[in-house]
Amino acid sequence: MEVARDYDRLRECALAQMEYAARARAAGRRANEVPEPDIPPEYESWLAFLARTERRRTVGAWRAMPLHADVARGLEILEEARAEFRRTHRECSNCGNWMPAYAKRCVCGNDL
Ligand SMILES: [Zn+2]
Repeated sequence: MEVARDYDRLRECALAQMEYAARARAAGRRANEVPEPDIPPEYESWLAFLARTERRRTVGAWRAMPLHADVARGLEILEEARAEFRRTHRECSNCGNWMPAYAKRCVCGNDL
C-alpha cells in the first residue's frame, strides 16, 4: 500500500514516535538506552514531511496554500495520534515529562 494512504499504519508510527520521544526525554542521561521504535524509513520520511508541513502552516503565507488530499489527511492523522498520546499519557506538573497514564509517579519523583 502506498505510504501516504496507509492511514492506520501512519497513525501507529506517529504514536510510536511520540512515545519514544517521551520515554527518551524522561530517561534523561540514559536516553540512548531507550529502544527506538521500528518504523520503516518510508514512513519516517513521510511523517517528517508532514511535521515540516504542519510547522510551515503556522506561518501566514503557507497557511493559505492548498494541500494535496493525502497531505491534508496526513495532518489530520498527526492530530489524531497526538490526541491518542494525550489520552494515554499524563504530563507531570513538576517537570513537564509525559508519563503513561497508569504511572502513579513521574521519574522526577512527583506524584501524578
Ligand atoms: Zn516530573
